[in-house]
Formats: sequence, structure tokens, C-alpha cells
Amino acid sequence: TRKAALAASTGPGATSDGHKVPLLANIGGPADVPAAVEAGAEGVGLFRTEFLFLDDSTKAPTEEKQVEAYRKVLEAFPEGRVVVRVLDAGADKPLDFLTPTDEPNPALGVRGLRSLLEHPEVLRTQLTALAKAVEGLPVYLEVMAPMVADRADAKAFADACREAGLQAKFGAMVEIPSAALRARSILQEVEFLSLGTNDLAQYTFAADRQVGAVSRLQDPWQPALLDLVALSAESAKAEGKSCGVCGEAASDPLLACVLTGLGVTSLSMGAASIPYVRATLGKYTLAQCERAAAAARAADSAEEARKAAQAVLSGE
Ligand code: PEP
Ligand code: MG
Repeated sequence: TRKAALAASTGPGATSDGHKVPLLANIGGPADVPAAVEAGAEGVGLFRTEFLFLDDSTKAPTEEKQVEAYRKVLEAFPEGRVVVRVLDAGADKPLDFLTPTDEPNPALGVRGLRSLLEHPEVLRTQLTALAKAVEGLPVYLEVMAPMVADRADAKAFADACREAGLQAKFGAMVEIPSAALRARSILQEVEFLSLGTNDLAQYTFAADRQVGAVSRLQDPWQPALLDLVALSAESAKAEGKSCGVCGEAASDPLLACVLTGLGVTSLSMGAASIPYVRATLGKYTLAQCERAAAAARAADSAEEARKAAQAVLSGE
């Protein structure tokens, strides 16, 4: 039964033939850590740092306040991996002190890394706070930038990390189709990729993630989105680097198998989804996941892709 499968679901994420796929948690701050630990998360794959900035949207939190919050999260995963995303303001996450108010299309405007590059002091404080927070801890800290569009963006972010003296791996989120198309170029500047499939779907389909009327196009089973995931994962593999997924797509157990088959190297999701994804992934071999992924990509709609993957995995 489902309950028994979940109870048996412990340990690191892996396919039935032992191909490891670390299962990580998406968190918004220290308050989300207990649930992540409880679910057996192998670390944090997406720490959305926006929460720290929401208390007072007229100014950035002090360095001290940031050090304290980051340290609480980093301490919770000794020997584990924690991927911190620097501030992703703008569009669906507006912040008074940072976000322009006169843009006709905020989702296509100065948001994410773009706003940090326009306000380098905000990025500098955040990176310095992270450098202080990780001091003396055995955790593997990785820091990534949201909304990287090209190699110049990736370089600007990596330069800022080095200038702050941050001892960590630097990465880029793949949320814009240009980043997926030119992933190998971006990987000349950073050490890992993380696919933000929520925004990647929004920008691939020109479908605002906040508009319900176009939600059909936000479906992460869309074959065009799967193609961009595959391209990113193949590019990372060719460069000897990792490519995780931290968007909603990773929390769908069947899709998690397909993403694994596409070559994704880790999956990060809300803590509640981890046991389900672990149990489902553990039922299939990597080769089965690869066949399901190929079948999904050969489909012409999200619905057909889901059915095709399901058919392969259930042995029909
Ligand atoms: C994403 O876009 O998929 C993502 C993980 O970031 P957010 O949902 O915070 O924009
Ligand atoms: Mg995003």
C-alpha cells in the first residue's frame, strides 16, 4: 500500500539500481528546517532568501540579521549540502526599496540578478553575510543567482562572490530559455546549474505564472520544457558539472523519474513531497527512467507526455 511504501522510504534518493539522485528541500528560512530534516532531506536545494527581506520592504536587512538567519539554516545540515539563492526580487516578488514601479512588464524587467547588479551593495552585503555565516561549519555551501540570462550575468555573479571572499560553489539558475540554450557558455563561469522550472515554463511559453487563464502552458510536463531540461542536463554533463531541478516539477513523483531520465542530478522540493518522490524513484531503474523520459519528449502535449511516461513505467 501507499502507506507501507512511504514508511519504507528512508535514506538517500536513488533509483532501484542505485543511481543516486539527492533529494533536497526548498525552504524559505530557518522555520522550514525541522520539516526538511523530518522528511529526510539530504540538504537544501533552494533557500529562497526573500523571506528575510519581507519584514520591511523599505530597506535591506542588516548584515548581522542575515548572518544569524543563514547560520541557523547552515548549522542544521552538518556535512549536508545547502544551496542558497541570493535575493530574487521583482515581478511576482516585489520589494519597495529595490523593485522598479514604472515597468510595463515587470516579469521582463529589472528582476532577480538584474536588480542585484543595479544595487551591488545589496548583493555584497548578502554575500558577505553568507561568508561569515559559513565560517567554521562543515556544510557544503553553494550559492546561486536567479534569472541568469547569459555568460556575462554568470561572470558578474561569480566575480561578486569572489570579491566577497566566499568559500563556496557558485551556480546559475536556468529560468530563462537563453540560459538553457547557452548552458555550456554559462558553465565556463559557474560550477553548477539549477533549473527553476516555474520561471522557465513562464518564459518558454510566454505565459505569466500568475495568470490562471494560461496555466495550461505552465504545466511542467510540456515537452518543450522537457527539451530545455534535457539540453541543460546534457550541457552540464559535457562540462563535468551538476544540474539540479528546484522548481515545482521536482515534486511530482512521476515527473521526478522523467527528470532523472533526462539527466538531472538532484531534485529539490517542498519537504512534504520528499517521501513520495523517494518511494517512486526507488521503484524504477535508471534505464526505465530514461525510456520514460524519451517517451515523454516524443509526445506533443503535456497530457500525452504524462501518459506516455506512465505507460513506460507501468510496463504497458
Ligand atoms: C522557479 O522559478 O522555478 C524557482 C524555483 O524559483 P521561484 O519559484 O522562487 O521563482
Ligand atoms: Mg524563479
